[in-house]
Amino acid sequence: MSTTEIRTTCPYCGVGCGLVVSRARDGWVVGGDPDHPANKGRLCSKGAALIDTVNAEASGDVRLLYPEVAGQRVTWDKAIAEVAGRLSATLAEHGPDAIAFYVSGQLLTEDYYVANKLLKGFIGSPHIDTNSRLCMASTVAGHKRAFGADVVPACYEDLEIADLVILVGSNLAWCHPVLAQRLRTAKRDRGTRVVLIDPRGTASSDLADLHLALKPGSDVALFNGLLAHLDSADAIDRAYVLRHVTGLEAALETAREDAGDVAQTCGLDPADIATFYDWFTTTPRTVTVFSQGVNQSSRGTDKVNAIINCHLATGRVGKPGSSPFSVTGQPNAMGGREVGGLANQLAAHMNPDDPADVDRLRRFWNAPALKGGQGLKAVDMFRAIREGRIKALWIMATNPAVSLPEATLVREALKICPTIIVSDIVGSTDSLDYAHIRLPALGWGEKDGTVTNSERRISRQRPFRAGPGEARADWWIMSKVAAVMGYGAAFAWRTAGEIFREHAILSGFENDGLRAFDIATWGRKREADYAAMQPFQWPMPAGATRGTERMYADGRFTHTNGRARMLAVRHIPPVERASLRFPLIANTGRYRDQWHTMTRTGLSARLSAHRPEPLLEIHPSDAQTADLLEGELARVISLQGEAVLRVAITDAQRPGQVFIPMHWSDTLSARGGIGRLIAPHTDPVSGQPESKHVPVRVERF
Ligand code: SF4
Repeated sequence: MSTTEIRTTCPYCGVGCGLVVSRARDGWVVGGDPDHPANKGRLCSKGAALIDTVNAEASGDVRLLYPEVAGQRVTWDKAIAEVAGRLSATLAEHGPDAIAFYVSGQLLTEDYYVANKLLKGFIGSPHIDTNSRLCMASTVAGHKRAFGADVVPACYEDLEIADLVILVGSNLAWCHPVLAQRLRTAKRDRGTRVVLIDPRGTASSDLADLHLALKPGSDVALFNGLLAHLDSADAIDRAYVLRHVTGLEAALETAREDAGDVAQTCGLDPADIATFYDWFTTTPRTVTVFSQGVNQSSRGTDKVNAIINCHLATGRVGKPGSSPFSVTGQPNAMGGREVGGLANQLAAHMNPDDPADVDRLRRFWNAPALKGGQGLKAVDMFRAIREGRIKALWIMATNPAVSLPEATLVREALKICPTIIVSDIVGSTDSLDYAHIRLPALGWGEKDGTVTNSERRISRQRPFRAGPGEARADWWIMSKVAAVMGYGAAFAWRTAGEIFREHAILSGFENDGLRAFDIATWGRKREADYAAMQPFQWPMPAGATRGTERMYADGRFTHTNGRARMLAVRHIPPVERASLRFPLIANTGRYRDQWHTMTRTGLSARLSAHRPEPLLEIHPSDAQTADLLEGELARVISLQGEAVLRVAITDAQRPGQVFIPMHWSDTLSARGGIGRLIAPHTDPVSGQPESKHVPVRVERF
């Protein structure tokens, strides 16, 4: 590799593909990194088109270039003084709980670390949450209930050495395309069986040997039925359970009660269910991949535990080709979890409800304001703003006016909040319209730090170009604000590498190296080592020379008794059901070539060409009932709001269900953002919104 080539990672999905960026005569060239273990040189359409977006961003009219206060360009000194002054005044007048941060899986781990330290440790508010709440919060909660820590036991290689791969609520072909490529190759080479469990036919259907198009929200019943079947087939690994697992009998009893009418509850052919159960029972090397179709549910955490229960009962956790496997949506959803980016976490996977963890972190940071306890999760945070309980909000690298459910309330909250600070790379988003202070942040290719992908692999993101205008790193901006607020000594880092080393030392602080998440060995390394860091999987505790491919293979889990827990979970339908007024159920999701609210991918003509506008995918019988024709516009109406989309009639949809993409906002579509349709129902454990089950009706526009 030449010295002008920079190794970094893709800014989109949780696969975390490695990239090689080099300079050519007419601009930058981006290719897959053949040496990165996540992708081994592969890229998907979004990764391959990154250079389009880089060049479009460089045009200058897309980016936020200078700090602004009340719409006027100001110096950084003035902007930082304004932010610090407003936060300090809010703190003095209303107390720490009147301040909240809403951040993003687009932030690098170092940015996330500083945000948590500033808000939780020094301002003293627990109210920091991230748009990862919309992505995988239910998995975090499910992992903690089952394993005692938020740990993904598997690695990508498991997809290539499994004999059976089950995709639950996961359109892998569009949402994690390089993993789908790896699975497709394994299927071709070694005949891997694939089961797709998804209410609709998707781009992943052609991977599947069996498609279980279950009723939305019935996953717990299906996996409870599987658990009961494993018992009746004498396929439970009793020796493993006896040594390593608690809760089997209670989970089994509940599963048997649920299992009586699985076919009816799930709306599936009993013969297909029998095939699925038989394949799972007889295939030791089974990986169950789950994603947003499981997480984005009012019972998402129970779904996660119903899946994990079946793996624990058969001893299939963390073994080669045999594990439950959550794949995350965002490039750094895992890194955010590692430093406490969710309202119910502390840095280094510590527990805000554990006084010993709170005390440990308070001493490590020398942060007397850290009080512990859980903060408000995303949906509740914006309700608190709307109710006037939160007076100052700092939004970083995300666009909640579009992406959160209950979008009308979110916009009202942003409108009345006395202080809205937005740090972003682009100059125009729906959320920026509400900002009193706008701060230009560095973007991908400009900023320096680390991300963690879905297999716990920490990789460097490295800059290869200067930021435009006066854009600065998020960690730099927050550190300057902290200094003006009087916390400077604890925020005196000069580089992202110094922040990473503090984070690494904290991971091994007073825990005897026994905590599942531990990268303490990196705390002793030098800046040059950080610069040259090769991708590695945590844990990599002090003294280790390499990371850890799989977790819990030895049956020792993170709960204090060393055992995993099976949870007794019962099928409970989604909060809202179809009715005469709203007879269809809308499911939301991604398109192959778009990302989130399209602030980057929307800049690429070739990506936009895949699906230039949002489509309402609807079964022919429902289209006929609503008198809709292919290609005409339809109004989609829910209890919360409405949007207008072009009709696409397809029998990939089950009758009674429609699909709508999540990407389009008011800014991008004069016909209304999709977020206006979504109800704010959340999972009672994880707080994750139910984005995939919205009762609607459709009518001609
Ligand atoms: Fe980027 Fe994900 Fe595509 Fe890899 S699979 S290139 S990380 S979008």
